[in-house]
Amino acid sequence: MSSSAVSGPRILFRQLRSVMAGKGDAELRLQTIVGLIASNMIAEVCSCYLIRAGDMLELFATQGLKKDAVHHTRLRVGEGLVGDVAAHARPLNLSDAQAHKQFAYRPETGEEIYHSLLGVPIMRGGRVIGVLVVQNRTMRHYTDEEVEALQTVAMVVAELISSEEMVNSNELLDTAGNATLPHRLTGRILAEGLATGYAVLHEPRIIVNRTIAEDVPAESLRLRKAVSGLQESVDVMLNTTDEMFSDESKDIFEAYKMFAHDKSWLKRLEDAVLTGLTAEAAIKLVQDDTRNRMKQISDPYIRERLSDLDDLANRLYLHLEGNTRIDRHHLPQNTIVVAQNMGAAELLDYDQEHLKAVVLVEGTRSSHVAIVARALGIPVIGQCKEISDAIEQGDFMLVDGEHGQVFLRPGDDVIQTFDSSVRHRAEKQAKYAALRNKKALSKDKQEIGIHMNAGLLIDLDHFEEAGADGIGLFRTELQFMVRSKLPKVDEQAELYSKVLDKAGDRPVIFRTLDVGGDKALPYLKMKEEENPALGWRAIRIGLDRPALLKAQLRAMVRAAAGRNLSVMFPMIAEFSEFLEAKALLNKEIERAARREGGAPKVVKVGTMIEVPSIIWQMPHLLREVDFVSVGSNDLMQFFYAVDRGNAMVTDRFDMLSSSFLSMLKYIATECQRANVPFSICGDAAGKPLEAMALIGLGYRNLSMSMDAIGPVKEMVLSADIERIKDFVSKLCSSKEISARDQLRAFAKDHSIVI
Ligand code: PEP
Ligand code: MG
Repeated sequence: MSSSAVSGPRILFRQLRSVMAGKGDAELRLQTIVGLIASNMIAEVCSCYLIRAGDMLELFATQGLKKDAVHHTRLRVGEGLVGDVAAHARPLNLSDAQAHKQFAYRPETGEEIYHSLLGVPIMRGGRVIGVLVVQNRTMRHYTDEEVEALQTVAMVVAELISSEEMVNSNELLDTAGNATLPHRLTGRILAEGLATGYAVLHEPRIIVNRTIAEDVPAESLRLRKAVSGLQESVDVMLNTTDEMFSDESKDIFEAYKMFAHDKSWLKRLEDAVLTGLTAEAAIKLVQDDTRNRMKQISDPYIRERLSDLDDLANRLYLHLEGNTRIDRHHLPQNTIVVAQNMGAAELLDYDQEHLKAVVLVEGTRSSHVAIVARALGIPVIGQCKEISDAIEQGDFMLVDGEHGQVFLRPGDDVIQTFDSSVRHRAEKQAKYAALRNKKALSKDKQEIGIHMNAGLLIDLDHFEEAGADGIGLFRTELQFMVRSKLPKVDEQAELYSKVLDKAGDRPVIFRTLDVGGDKALPYLKMKEEENPALGWRAIRIGLDRPALLKAQLRAMVRAAAGRNLSVMFPMIAEFSEFLEAKALLNKEIERAARREGGAPKVVKVGTMIEVPSIIWQMPHLLREVDFVSVGSNDLMQFFYAVDRGNAMVTDRFDMLSSSFLSMLKYIATECQRANVPFSICGDAAGKPLEAMALIGLGYRNLSMSMDAIGPVKEMVLSADIERIKDFVSKLCSSKEISARDQLRAFAKDHSIVI
């Protein structure tokens, strides 16, 4: 086969096609196929192993090994060389197989006389369903062309196996551990809730349904058309981004363009089609090779470039299909989106009516996609590392956002248990709903203000049922993120006015635009930054582009004419920044006072405490502000220098550590001393255990996502605050890395519901 990389496989594919199209017993046809492969590859042995229940690979057909071994020789995935190919889903090419440490001798096969071995995985939809092996007596090294040819043949075999269901799928359904079987995967809860539905892949992967082409020249034409479609679309992408982005990002798209025109990539695709493969199979073959190379390369830059190539392969596939992107507005009912990661804007791109849950390979609780999902009541499981290998488009799945689990293709028993969890959750929600009109009064009769974090119009619909004392943080940027162009002053004023109407006499704190970092606005030109979280964002943009901030302040002032208005600035790192921002607000108030409509009745102005530097200017700051609110998400990020969006580091430090608690205590004490109202609106406020510690530190106003209100109220109602105070103040001087366990034990001992 190596002598001619093109015509050899083509003859074999023709022969395979006629076997596949033929009738009769599937196992006999598989036996014919291994015979054809052996003679075509001039190999003494060709064997096919298929995965059966319990992660077992069973010999199903062989040319060259003893016939008795068929259905008797079995290896676990990971055991022996065949098991190794299956476990790692990559080829193994050995001139002296018996010398390999993984070699597992099976006397019934008679394989001791064969030295060289080439094994490739048989894959279907990203999963290993078997292994195809050739062996020779001599110590032969199989060439790259031979490896590629056997991989291609494995795709054909995959088609036969799947269409004939050679392994009874019912048998596989009863066991765990195989990618076609029911699966329970674990991850982190980024947004609570339970959902059932069908998987929609955020980035659809290539599924090859037809491997061998009927008409090679026609297939070659299909491929060429798709390639020129791809090249055109990359050019369009480059031109569009040209207007919006900086030179650095332009470079990245230039690289895309270069790859889309890369002669060797295109030649490999073309050659694969000329061997008789369909264009889809050719793309898949080349893509699998790219992925294998990616696994072996540690240089992040080169890996990144190879992943660009991977993405291009996906795009090319979509061009073959005649469409360019998944339509996020016409989703199947009960959609569960599965993605590597996603931005908040991308989440909002999906039709909210049909989107029931999200599962991410990455993602953290304080990332904005999680925040938005919580506002929308969409459960999200993050850091579900195994999902991408296990999932298929359209798979039925259950998302358990109470225990951080995902069930793929669940059996009836799992579905029944899940249904009872859904009922249980509904009961809990009913219990929380009953607390709606109750004040959060502790056992020792201290009242805690429970406020809601909001930002989307849908939040306003939930405001009544939430039972909140007010809106402690209105993230105005969410409204900007869901639009395709900058909202005008009138539009903004209309929205803020609606929020105030909805809140009635309950307080609302509007935070000015907090964009940048991971919150991008499609219409705002932003430079590609090395460290976006530390970059040009939030108030920094507001002060550098005062027109944007002024317009927003004008809208807020206008919306609050004759009413109360509270405005808060994000990411203040320096006292002077606050003064500058406040001066802009004052100008808008003066302007409004001179005009019809008039100024707000009372204006309160405050700042987020998110950057540690401002804590060292508290005495100055507290003389100028009407209130402050701690943004513990960003404060934690800057305090410990941990990227809040990076799952690799977020678990390293605990906010319930003595150092972080001490800082929170310092902020509370300074505010109490200056008699300035203070609250906390980061994620921590919405977790009962953290909220208990915060109350102990003196925080009396907590602002959280809607779904956290019930559990936090329940905690407050069961707590004796004076006791917590004493306990938490001791923790501030502890040398433990985390006070979590101690706080949990305290809650248990004092019957506090956390
Ligand atoms: C915070 O940083 O804690 C906060 C509330 O702001 P955001 O999560 O929107 O950055
Ligand atoms: Mg923040």
